[in-house]
Amino acid sequence: MTFKQLGLDESILKALQDQGYENPTPIQAQSIPVLLKGKDLLGVAQTGTGKTAAFSIPILQQLLDGDGPRGKRKIRALVVTPTRELAIQIDENFTAYSKYTGIKNTVIFGGVKQTKQVYALHQGVDVLVATPGRLLDLINQRYISLADVEYFVLDEADQMLDMGFIHDIKKLLKLLPNQRQSLFFSATMPQAIVKLSREILGDFERVTI
Ligand code: AMP
Repeated sequence: MTFKQLGLDESILKALQDQGYENPTPIQAQSIPVLLKGKDLLGVAQTGTGKTAAFSIPILQQLLDGDGPRGKRKIRALVVTPTRELAIQIDENFTAYSKYTGIKNTVIFGGVKQTKQVYALHQGVDVLVATPGRLLDLINQRYISLADVEYFVLDEADQMLDMGFIHDIKKLLKLLPNQRQSLFFSATMPQAIVKLSREILGDFERVTI
């Protein structure tokens, strides 16, 4: 299996080549076709498996297939992850894979002043990577609207619950459009996580690595 066989745009293939990726990892080979069909996904996978590319590549592909990066930019893809470190890593992945696409991404997290983050949002982004607290904070201040989100990723869901983010997640869900593709990743699947996944996902496929 090659990335080319997955039917990805040349601009993405070139970026993957620059990264030195030759073949999709197992989670990528299983998830990318499902996601390109527009289905929701439950991914049971740890960090280190290539999980980030497994969701960011098909999101970028679908953004290109849709309106593309033209016109006034709206947040069309939202990735929520529990920690600043993960958020930065995911944002860096999007930057690397999208470098020839014209798609723009940015990252927001707490513990720092919001000024630079607000400025970046104001420039217009297609993809936003965020930790839950800062995201809700900037939504409440009306710097962010989730009204145009088409792709929603909840990453490290078990860690999210362990860190007490469940109420924040519930609030976010109420603000997301019902018409969306949802991706739910967790390293473990205890009962509370199964329940949460059912609240987030529609008709989904499960990929376990
Ligand atoms: P992740 O599980 O998303 O944290 O990814 C773990 C590491 O694997 C990261 O350093 C990625 O850059 C790298 N990686 C992801 N996909 C591939 C691939 N198809 N081939 C080689 N390395 C990859």
